[in-house]
Amino acid sequence: MAASDSQVDIVVVGSGIGGLTAAVRAARAGARVIVVEKASEAGGTTRLSGGGVWGMRRFEDIRSFVPHGDADLQRRWVEGIPAGHAWLDELGIPAEAKPGTTLSGMDAALPNRLIDGDIIEGYNTIGRVMNPSQFVDMMVEELTRLAVPLFLDTSLEELVRKGESVVGVVLDAQGTRLSVKTRAVVLATGGFAACPSLIAEHITPYAAKLWPRCVDSVTGDGLRLATQIGAAPSDGGFNAFYGHNLPARPAKFDKSQLIEVSQFYGPAAIAVNLRGERYTDEGETRLEETLAQDTARQPDATALLVFDDVMWKMYRDPRSSFSQAGSDKFGIARDAGAPVLFTHDMEELVRQAGTLGVAPVQLRETIDVFNGAANNGTTHLLDVPKSRYVYPVMTPPFYGVLVQPGITSSMGGLKVNQNAQVLDAVGKTIGGLYACGVDIGNLNNRHYAGNLSIGLVFGMAAADHITHSLDSGGRTA
Ligand SMILES: Cc1cc2nc3c(=O)[nH]c(=O)nc-3n(C[C@H](O)[C@H](O)[C@H](O)COP(=O)(O)OP(=O)(O)OC[C@H]3O[C@@H](n4cnc5c(N)ncnc54)[C@H](O)[C@@H]3O)c2cc1C
Repeated sequence: MAASDSQVDIVVVGSGIGGLTAAVRAARAGARVIVVEKASEAGGTTRLSGGGVWGMRRFEDIRSFVPHGDADLQRRWVEGIPAGHAWLDELGIPAEAKPGTTLSGMDAALPNRLIDGDIIEGYNTIGRVMNPSQFVDMMVEELTRLAVPLFLDTSLEELVRKGESVVGVVLDAQGTRLSVKTRAVVLATGGFAACPSLIAEHITPYAAKLWPRCVDSVTGDGLRLATQIGAAPSDGGFNAFYGHNLPARPAKFDKSQLIEVSQFYGPAAIAVNLRGERYTDEGETRLEETLAQDTARQPDATALLVFDDVMWKMYRDPRSSFSQAGSDKFGIARDAGAPVLFTHDMEELVRQAGTLGVAPVQLRETIDVFNGAANNGTTHLLDVPKSRYVYPVMTPPFYGVLVQPGITSSMGGLKVNQNAQVLDAVGKTIGGLYACGVDIGNLNNRHYAGNLSIGLVFGMAAADHITHSLDSGGRTA
């Protein structure tokens, strides 16, 4: 790192899709950029992802699916996705087109083709799928070509605000504190999914039981440091997150297995807490983000997913429309070391559940009541209704998997405008301060409609706004 009084145009904080997009785009437009990354490797959670750069195709759809999100930002998000895809093409990043995909990424040629004839959310999405590691590596190569320094093991520690604007940053580079003057800062620190104290504050008292389904370095730094200098938190989304239920402890798996161990069939199972009670409409969303969120708030953030052979055969059929359909999630959870149940006898299922800490008498009653409603087509009238993917637990063998939620990304974050400029409590921009990626709050809220596209669209928006402001000779507004 250069001398501590160094001056640049833009400090980009974080090297996931948000930070890399902002940095490459601004540097290509001629700005002097540096990127700082807290971890020893570039890429953040982006590198671990499935690479689906997707979102809703139309504003009406995002409003209908995520009605509590910020409408202005959602409009900017949805409208920016085609330009984002075009920019990936311009950079030569392979990203296979997935035209007409549905919310789950299922081919449009097979609409609503659950084997039992259930209807899936009919939202029309737009998506491309890239190899996330290849994306990160190509973007880092592009930074090198553009002579943009990328400082690994270097974290943002402080934003320096003078009057209405941010004028510098304080960094920690492996124990050395450095000050850098800058005209703009782009926060792309990836939200707070790996910060138990923020999760405990906003989401659940059982934060310690959640798996970080993300890199461990996304600890809410952007949110914390920006609010310290007057930035406003988003108006909503703080109690929500995107994630999946993962095998419960003592299961062990590494970060490269996060997709594989995610129990995507949850919406078609019965989910009971340790009291043996259902606690949510398991089928509220097909990507199971709502199931994971509601599991997080149950005792010990632990649930038992219970299902029978009919449901399991449906999921094991690759033509079923659930994500990762066809794969043996039960076997994967068992092999990872999670407590699982497998038996041909209902009494035995309930007895075994008791040994896992799930109240057996209540569990039996829950299954009986659910089965009765399922057979009458009245699960929507239950105290805890079930809207879709209704499979009674009747046909042996019976299965159970103990799960705990993995949190991939927080949905609350910083309040920004459509240019990705960070706002203060009265809605005024803080000069020179931008956020992108999941550092932005309230785009998703309870329901989830993509994340990588948020990094792409708002990384581009931040870079464009900064470079236009620099071109017009001023500080960033
Ligand atoms: C298994 C899995 C599959 C997924 N699949 C998809 C998918 O197909 N489609 C999709 O849209 N989303 C997917 N996601 C979610 C998506 O990957 C993330 O939400 C997204 O990549 C976040 O991008 P970001 O740029 O905001 O943050 P990140 O990629 O997490 O980058 C943030 C970076 O900031 C760094 N940082 C943090 N604090 C500091 C600091 N103080 N100073 C410097 N650097 C700091 C971090 O180390 C990190 O590298 C998936 C996630 C996982 C785990």
